[in-house]
Amino acid sequence: MKRTITCIICPKGCEIEADNDSGTLILSGYDCARGKRYAETEMTCPMRTLTTTVRLPTGRMLPVRTDAPVPKAMLFDCMAEVAKIKLPVKPVAAGEVILPDICGTGANLIASAAWELNANP
Ligand code: SF4
Repeated sequence: MKRTITCIICPKGCEIEADNDSGTLILSGYDCARGKRYAETEMTCPMRTLTTTVRLPTGRMLPVRTDAPVPKAMLFDCMAEVAKIKLPVKPVAAGEVILPDICGTGANLIASAAWELNANP
């Protein structure tokens, strides 16, 4: 498979050509080792940080994200787990773990923002 991958590691946005048709991954167009690693991962096991929301007991939505990237192929499984979350009525601190080791990925789902009990709904 041949692909052009736009590197998102820095604002330069190098266009990396990837080709694994020969059984060996050949990359060109990257300007640094971080971009090369990014393209290698994109061609083998693409990873993404999951960013979404969880419903608070008040009905408002709490922004959450994983504290590490998870395999892109597992994003729907992770979202299904997120949909099952029922938060207790208690304050939430920014960075608090909402769901550890989501879907066995090793990444924790954490609160991106705090929520106080006496906050507006
Ligand atoms: S390859 Fe390196 S320089 Fe190019 S966009 Fe990626 S991180 Fe930036």
